[in-house]
Amino acid sequence: MYTFDTIVAPATASGTASINIIRISGKDAVNIGEKIFTPKIAKNRLSQNPRKLIYGHIVHNEKIIDEVMACYMNAPHTFTCEDVVEINCHGGKKSVEEIISIILTSGARLAENGEFTKRAFLNGRIDLSQAESVIDIINAKSSKAFENAQKQLQGKLSKRIFDIDNTLKKSLAQITVAIDFPEEDVPEVTRQELTSDLDYCIENLQKLEKTYKDGKIISDGINIAIIGRPNVGKSSLLNELLEENRAIVTDIAGTTRDIIQESLSINGLCVNLVDTAGIRDTSDVVEKIGVERSISSIENADIILLMLDNSTEISNDDINLIEKLQQKQYIVLINKSDLDSKLNINHIPDFIDKNNIMNISAEKKEGIEQLKEKIYSMAITYEDENTNSVMLTNSRHYALIQNTISSLKDAKTAILDDVELDIVETDYKDALQYLGEITGESVSESLLDTIFSQFCIGK
Ligand code: GDP
Ligand code: ZN
Repeated sequence: MYTFDTIVAPATASGTASINIIRISGKDAVNIGEKIFTPKIAKNRLSQNPRKLIYGHIVHNEKIIDEVMACYMNAPHTFTCEDVVEINCHGGKKSVEEIISIILTSGARLAENGEFTKRAFLNGRIDLSQAESVIDIINAKSSKAFENAQKQLQGKLSKRIFDIDNTLKKSLAQITVAIDFPEEDVPEVTRQELTSDLDYCIENLQKLEKTYKDGKIISDGINIAIIGRPNVGKSSLLNELLEENRAIVTDIAGTTRDIIQESLSINGLCVNLVDTAGIRDTSDVVEKIGVERSISSIENADIILLMLDNSTEISNDDINLIEKLQQKQYIVLINKSDLDSKLNINHIPDFIDKNNIMNISAEKKEGIEQLKEKIYSMAITYEDENTNSVMLTNSRHYALIQNTISSLKDAKTAILDDVELDIVETDYKDALQYLGEITGESVSESLLDTIFSQFCIGK
């Protein structure tokens, strides 16, 4: 275990709250705690009562600063694996500021961003991918993102990585032995064993690699644009999906002049929904800006909902919009299914997949649940056989997994081609280096700094 100096930071968000927590970690934590905290009952000294919440006061120069509850948690079973003192003081900026300044004059220094979590990693309580999941837990925008980050914190990603890591280390040992005794030919069975272990590792890494697309959607949410001519019912659908009246619904064409953006959850998935201004040729300057924004929101969308009006025939404006769906994920919605149909479905261009056409009535709330299901199944495409398994959400991990796969494929080709084992050995070492950057086993100080600087202070 490393020994570090003693650090302090507010653990709760700044601003007013009912309680704020100040965290001190390091070898002097309990000394500093006892210096500034006076228990109400004298015998309840922090150092004598680990893991108990004790009532008392922060006292400085014989003056009571705040009424608090304090707790001393002794190493090593703490968040950082170090001695930790936590002080629950009154919410409010002043209370936190004053107590922290007293702690600073008593020998601690202000923690850097993510420094508590960094210590938990450096002291071996969690690996790097677990430490990184702490940010994802804090930033989770949906229940699915939260759940996935929790799995990563529990070590479900690391477990899969360590399994591959161990297999590769075993193979590397066999290769090293073979290199050390070059006079003996590498037995055929060793080559077979090496390639079958490589296949196992590549297959498992590829499974993980495939989870990234969904994982990214789960962590960032999915962008959906609703497009269509004015008056087809886009705003009505948005309201229906949001179950509230956010967008202005009118029967005057061109009312939604700017784009409206809202987020909602579909089965725990965060959906960022954009209701675009009706797209049509217009001379109105303000409406024109809205139309341009609509077009750019199409470009940014992961899925486009293109809306047609069942009560009118398909127009040239509709066709122009439909053309924009090429190369995109889309659903064509024929809205106002409650009205008499004047729309000839055969006029929808052929490239549109019939499975992606749905009839709905935004006004009568028909087809909305089916639409939500369709959106979800389009967004989440990769189904692992083990639905409980963790998904890759971090672009750094994704790149490292891809690099690992490519090194292992090189190793396999080299083995099959009877290439010198020294060369094969390099591929294995590269692969292990990449995996080590996920678990933190082989990671540079500067990379650690970059990773932990993304944390907030106090974490
Ligand atoms: P937008 O311009 O595409 O956003 O269209 P709106 O949502 O503002 O709706 C235009 C008009 O169509 C309004 O009068 C709505 O009440 C009406 N409308 C929307 N959806 C339906 C529907 O499913 N059935 C019927 N009958 N009318 C609808
Ligand atoms: Zn509208």
